[in-house]
Amino acid sequence: MARHRVVVVGGGFGGLRVAQGLAGSDVDVLLVDRNNYHLFQPLLYQVATASQEQEAIAYPLRSIARRHRNVSFRLAEVEQIDLANKQVLTDNDAIPYDTLVLAAGSQTNYFQNDSLKQHAYDLKELQDAVALRNRILRVFEQAAHESDPALRKALLTFVIVGGGPTGVEFAGALAELVHMVFQEDFPELEVNEATIILIEAVDRLLRFYPEDLSDYAKRRLIGMGVDVRLNTLVAGATSDSVLIKDGPAIPTYTLLWAAGVKSADLTDTLPGERARGGRIPVTPQLHLPGHEDVYVIGDMTYLEQNGSPLAQVASVAIQMGRYVARDILNTQHGRERKPFRYNDKGSMAVIGRGAAVADVFGINLRGPLAWLAWLGLHIYYHVGFRNRLLVMWNWAWDYLFFNRKVRLLTWSPHENLDQAMHEPATNSEVPVSVGK
Ligand SMILES: Cc1cc2nc3c(=O)[nH]c(=O)nc-3n(C[C@H](O)[C@H](O)[C@H](O)COP(=O)(O)OP(=O)(O)OC[C@H]3O[C@@H](n4cnc5c(N)ncnc54)[C@H](O)[C@@H]3O)c2cc1C
Repeated sequence: MARHRVVVVGGGFGGLRVAQGLAGSDVDVLLVDRNNYHLFQPLLYQVATASQEQEAIAYPLRSIARRHRNVSFRLAEVEQIDLANKQVLTDNDAIPYDTLVLAAGSQTNYFQNDSLKQHAYDLKELQDAVALRNRILRVFEQAAHESDPALRKALLTFVIVGGGPTGVEFAGALAELVHMVFQEDFPELEVNEATIILIEAVDRLLRFYPEDLSDYAKRRLIGMGVDVRLNTLVAGATSDSVLIKDGPAIPTYTLLWAAGVKSADLTDTLPGERARGGRIPVTPQLHLPGHEDVYVIGDMTYLEQNGSPLAQVASVAIQMGRYVARDILNTQHGRERKPFRYNDKGSMAVIGRGAAVADVFGINLRGPLAWLAWLGLHIYYHVGFRNRLLVMWNWAWDYLFFNRKVRLLTWSPHENLDQAMHEPATNSEVPVSVGK
């Protein structure tokens, strides 16, 4: 008799836990992803700020699949789900399933602002982090021999939009890169000319954290030289500025958009209602409503618990993934099934050396203790022994030597020229190679 076939779309935090939970069981699992690696997104900002090499935060999915006889991997872009015929339609072929798990995650939400989409960097994929690192290094190199003070100032201005964990962590890491490392690297420059601006639409950073932790994060960032602007709305961007609603534009060549996510593209191909951010409201057992053979987990889902929606964070995706693996096996073996319950252990964000905030089990921590907890947790959830060692080695190196060793410009001059031809800089004095 044919074995039950589970197809998991997405090898991120949620999808990987489904595959691991079913490994060694009596069902066959096919993990499908457009990338051949699992990406540890929480450390993307460290790749962008030259602290980690990209290999340290990505892990080959085939390395995971090959350990288990019932788990296999396919590299493919999933374009649509044929629910009636129980098939996953990819850019290459159609894959049949008995049970389907959709764990395709989320994407950056520019809220239909095309100028932001065109000109801002985001941090979602590995290549986004490398592109942003290249830009940071590139503008410093150009500023080092730029004689026009206004242009030099614009090259050395970095704008981050979004005061959530990603914006806060990136702003802190960039401030340390500039003041601890570039200070020595660029003797031609007065590094204090560099400005890091963190913009947030509401009246505090880390708005889902307790208020005292938000205040601490703000104070620490200001102490590190970050210009924190609250209650400020961004209206758009050009190739050389950020447009502020009710305020003057900020000349810059580096804008990071960290102000929102929406459900993955694949969500648009599925039937049914959508919640905020295009998320799919799921049943208490994480099914696509009306489809007992399809689970949806992680950032794609909308599920309320105790009156509020679960956040789009790794721990929710991980717990959902583990739950779904158990639920599939319980269904297969006719065992009792229970609805999904998220066990909220809290949240953390790091600000800089020895500085972090943590809200764990209702206890608010800040400073070195929170920082150590943050380091430990990120190592614990990281995938792969070598990756863990690499990440810890890089942290130790940075901590001991005040250094960031991945300060490599890896862009190709031809690529850059092509980009500049498609999007010429608006200021004729700006060297062509700075177009995004
Ligand atoms: C910069 C950044 C920092 C973050 N920091 C934290 C943090 O500190 N703590 C925390 O808890 N959370 C953090 N998060 C959020 C966390 O990473 C997500 O909540 C988590 O990754 C969601 O897991 P998931 O399994 O739903 O999706 P993901 O982990 O995003 O995985 C989705 C997978 O699906 C694949 N995929 C998508 N579409 C397709 C398709 N059409 N075909 C094939 N494959 C597809 C993708 O390649 C990816 O591998 C951060 C996110 C980002 C971007």
